[in-house]
Amino acid sequence: MIRRYANYIRKNIIRLPNFINYFILNINQNPTMIYGIDYQRYKKYLNKSDTTFNSELHLLNVVNSAIQTVPYYRRLYRGMTFKDINQFSKCFGFIDKDIVMINMKDFISDKVKIADYDFGTTGGTSGKPLQLIAPKTRYIIEFATIHSIWERIGYKFNVRAVIRNHRLPKRVIYKINPLMREVIFDGFRLNDNYFQDVYKTIRRLNIAFIHCYPSVAYEFSVYLLKNRLDVSFIKAFLCSSENIFDYQLDLVQNRLGIRFFNFYGHSEKLVLAGFCAKSDLYHIEPTYGYFELVDTEGNGIKQVGDIGEIVGTSFHNPGMPLIRYRTGDFAEYVGDICPVCHRRVPVIKNIMGRWRGDRIFNRDGSFVTTTALNLHDELYSVIYGLQYVQKEKGILQILIIKSPLYNSMHEEILYKHYKDKLNKDTKIEIKYVDELIKQPNGKFLLLISKISSTN
Ligand SMILES: [Zn+2]
Repeated sequence: MIRRYANYIRKNIIRLPNFINYFILNINQNPTMIYGIDYQRYKKYLNKSDTTFNSELHLLNVVNSAIQTVPYYRRLYRGMTFKDINQFSKCFGFIDKDIVMINMKDFISDKVKIADYDFGTTGGTSGKPLQLIAPKTRYIIEFATIHSIWERIGYKFNVRAVIRNHRLPKRVIYKINPLMREVIFDGFRLNDNYFQDVYKTIRRLNIAFIHCYPSVAYEFSVYLLKNRLDVSFIKAFLCSSENIFDYQLDLVQNRLGIRFFNFYGHSEKLVLAGFCAKSDLYHIEPTYGYFELVDTEGNGIKQVGDIGEIVGTSFHNPGMPLIRYRTGDFAEYVGDICPVCHRRVPVIKNIMGRWRGDRIFNRDGSFVTTTALNLHDELYSVIYGLQYVQKEKGILQILIIKSPLYNSMHEEILYKHYKDKLNKDTKIEIKYVDELIKQPNGKFLLLISKISSTN
């Protein structure tokens, strides 16, 4: 009963008038009050585990207990006990979204107390969603781990401006969630008029952290730069959930001078990684899940600079332990110690999500990846945004937001660039726009493709 009541408050408090919520938000300074004593314990555990955590031992425990209790694994590995990591790497097979979808019920442990679990689906703009269960208390691990990542750049349960997937009534500039300490803006109204309102609000309320998608951080930064606004009070953009591009990092960090602090996660909740405090390299969080980077044959990537697929194993879901799950996201291997801050964790960079989906097709079915179409830096510096739209094979539409420096010469260079990369009979149309297209969940995709990747 109390729990239901608490949930009701959590969900509906945002409806109270802003002045009341602003008052509550200022009282609410202690995260333990909101997330409970388990949050505080887990934060302590994270601090303690920073140098001592043995993720291989943890992995073997998860694997051996899954063989005992989870029908899918019992069927494949009955009677086996995994004793070391080499045996695991050699003998334990991979799974992916399709396998879990087909065998969903077999991935649920016999020992699960279903009342302690929530059902959910992985959201997504690609294909069918995947059904998962996760412990009801899972949010404690999520928040504690994310907060500890953000602490690297000075976050201490500060008020955050959030510009993600909320839609607000037309005349409302922002709403406040005082429990989460969020000042929430409309993620679907991204134009200069609204950015002006956002800026005035965060300045008035002295908000130092802006939590948003990378594409929004970039677009808002373009606005800030164009209007030469004072940004000295903004400490960082806290970003996630989209691929990030060098031109975004360059504009936000080098030209505007705000930290673009990114973290990587996925809806299956197997691997979590956040930027290093001192560089744009990702540290994998060892306590969250077991991380592997593998080549197409499933061998571990050992060579610095090689690219592999991110494979994850859940440490915090005994009811549905996904082991060696291929995420479909790719990254470049940097090392097992951070070369910048020397923390002893797996380090990667250039994460590319949904890599296999980012294909642009010629009429004959051949394709190039969007990465292969990357422009030179000088072109990125004269545009404010770019997006590809492909509705049928052999026709590519390129949406561009021009900067004042953009001229017809740049257009010529662009046409030539794309003609060189694609087949001669592929039709290229450059279309100038004021805004790029957002997905219904507010996310930006570099390529919006109506072509199924399997045909
Ligand atoms: Zn580092």
